[in-house]
Amino acid sequence: MQTVNSIESLRFAVEDLRRSGSVALVTTMGALHDGHMALMRAARNHATHVVASIFVNPMQFGKGEDLAAYPRPLAADQARLEAEGVALLWAPDVATMYPPGFATRVCVDGVSEGLCGAARPGHFDGVASVVCKLFNQVRPDVALFGEKDWQQLAVIRRMARDLDLTLPLVENIVGVPIVREADGLAMSSRNAYLSGEQRRGAGTLNVAMLAAIARIEGGADVPTALAELTARLIAAGFASVDYASLADADSLALFDKAPQRPARLLVAARIGTTRLIDNMPVGPKSGEPA
Ligand code: AMP
Repeated sequence: MQTVNSIESLRFAVEDLRRSGSVALVTTMGALHDGHMALMRAARNHATHVVASIFVNPMQFGKGEDLAAYPRPLAADQARLEAEGVALLWAPDVATMYPPGFATRVCVDGVSEGLCGAARPGHFDGVASVVCKLFNQVRPDVALFGEKDWQQLAVIRRMARDLDLTLPLVENIVGVPIVREADGLAMSSRNAYLSGEQRRGAGTLNVAMLAAIARIEGGADVPTALAELTARLIAAGFASVDYASLADADSLALFDKAPQRPARLLVAARIGTTRLIDNMPVGPKSGEPA
């Protein structure tokens, strides 16, 4: 696997790959775990070559968030990517992505406004901007994103449509199911921040969500089931719950009644200072973000 750090060498290396087949892109912030690796494996089924990116994107971190503390184990990440058959790693630094004078921002209205968008102002502008840049830099035939970040997937699909990002790509933004630990906790680079006690408490998140879904699908009042879910998380040691919401799987419009359409239960909650997110399907059948 080749690692490139400049736009010029990236273009050269991607052109080289393209001569012998199609290219899939998996964008990450590194500190790779089995969830990321599931994306790399899925990518291999969608294209001849897999290009991975690692970039801890300052534009998507708010003031007081964990930008400086975010783990950056580059050598270990390279070894995992190499073992997974990834052809090329694009690992730009901040000055390469945002040179002096950089002044453009991609802002996706609607789907980026509620849920994590409300709790983390500007976050999805940062995500959309960097993913737009990465798409333009690599020009992949297909790109894969985790359903772990359901709202992010919806934002990226909306952006790709709205900005006419090359036609095959728009149709080829693929969502990959969430990979979980043995106790059901969704894998995340941020799980490394958890103490032993916090890690045990964090395992309650998916269990409480499954219980809430069973109640909602059994006909319970939705606001009551969501309030019970929040109370259960606080009782398990979570410091706060940013949101526990039932939303349309595609538009992310909120439901306060049992859904007749595919829906998702989406939760963001803090344990200590670590913010965890998770989402699961509810109702008739699981959907795909718009
Ligand atoms: P990140 O490095 O956190 O920006 O994540 C990079 C990509 O991996 C995103 O598309 C995430 O949605 C995806 N991802 C992260 N964790 C998981 C997981 N547990 N299961 C599936 N995909 C994941």
